[in-house]
Amino acid sequence: MTDQTLSCSETVRAMWDYVDHALPGEMRSAVEAHLKGCDNCAGHVAFAKRLVEQIATAPVPQPDVEALEQRVRGALAHEAMSS
Ligand SMILES: [Zn+2]
Repeated sequence: MTDQTLSCSETVRAMWDYVDHALPGEMRSAVEAHLKGCDNCAGHVAFAKRLVEQIATAPVPQPDVEALEQRVRGALAHEAMSS
């Protein structure tokens, strides 16, 4: 048995990467091991998972930076031509 017990605060800190599948394997199993024995953290992770799923499925309004840039470039080019 390796000594990879996480504290609750470590688990909560790691949980966002955990739900994002961004944790390295060892850390991931350490988090999973902690969650098995800790209802409190398991609750946090369940909440984080729901939140991440909602963010992933929700349409995110993106500012249309590219269109704006093209408009500015177009205006500048126009200016350059008319002068
Ligand atoms: Zn815990």
